[in-house]
Amino acid sequence: MTWSFPIGRLLGSQLRIHATFFLLLLWVGVTAYGAGGTYAALVNVSYVLLLFACVIAHEYGHALMARRFGIRTPDITLLPIGGMARLERMPEKPGREILVALAGPAVNVVIFLALWLWVGLSPRTPLSGGMSFATLPEQIAMLNLILALFNMIPAFPMDGGRVLRATLSIFMARVTATKVASLVGQGVAIVGAAYGLWTGQLILVLIAVFIFMAARAENNDVALRDRLKGMVARDVMITEYTPLRPGDGIEVARLTLQRSGHAALPVKDFASGRVVGVVSEQALDDANSDETVEGVMQRQIPAVPPETPLARTLRLVGSAPMVAVVSKDGTMTGFLTQARVGEVLQAATERHR
Ligand SMILES: [Zn+2]
Repeated sequence: MTWSFPIGRLLGSQLRIHATFFLLLLWVGVTAYGAGGTYAALVNVSYVLLLFACVIAHEYGHALMARRFGIRTPDITLLPIGGMARLERMPEKPGREILVALAGPAVNVVIFLALWLWVGLSPRTPLSGGMSFATLPEQIAMLNLILALFNMIPAFPMDGGRVLRATLSIFMARVTATKVASLVGQGVAIVGAAYGLWTGQLILVLIAVFIFMAARAENNDVALRDRLKGMVARDVMITEYTPLRPGDGIEVARLTLQRSGHAALPVKDFASGRVVGVVSEQALDDANSDETVEGVMQRQIPAVPPETPLARTLRLVGSAPMVAVVSKDGTMTGFLTQARVGEVLQAATERHR
């Protein structure tokens, strides 16, 4: 995003424009001028500006709908190949994801209908070739219809792909739904590329290749989740740490915890060799300085066997400062914290990129 710069705020999101967008405008203007003089240059540049205004409106459709569901939409970037509304996250509920995905094309449909009512559409007007300011509203109307239809192609990264995934995820696991949707997207891309080659439309082939790669990326994302699915508690548990003792003072405990770099530490009774509790950063912050670890530690620790799938520990690490990984004979072999699991998820994602 280094080549895009902000041009202002609109409806609560920062609007950014990619530098190459101006090159595109210049290219369109110069080409049209060469073919038809100043008038042609003005019409064509106006057409491109209106096209991008419609793309921005489309993106605001997504952004404003997402905001209804409490999702932040910090910025919208205009690229020469289209727009991109950055959403903090996608809604988890299928119904909401469908609404957010449909909101973009819906804006184009509304613009199409409004222009249609305003100027009317006559089939005898040529829609390509001779551009003039008189036919511009009609051409923009058709453009919006095409934008809406194109975006509803059921393939990632098109909105139609998201609608398909969300619809499927009502009936199956979201992971499976993503896989099916991305395979459908790849199928659509192959058909599109074949049609493009057959009819000699190179631009169609290029779009198809782009769609195919995007669908594959989505598929790889599923594969990544599958890899995570194969991970068990033993693979990611923390095994190297200095345990606290029940008699440790709060200051000593705070220092030990700080040095460990972990969010929580087990408390070990050295006489019996058993783990008797856990102390979290939070508990130490709330403690008085004259207390001991024994007084502030949490005695109930959720425990899982080493073979527990990582996905199954997610809820546990979210609700307790630490999850003990306990082997069959009852000894604690390591522990998991929410921060640790978060790191592993992050690392797996970055390796994948
Ligand atoms: Zn869209």
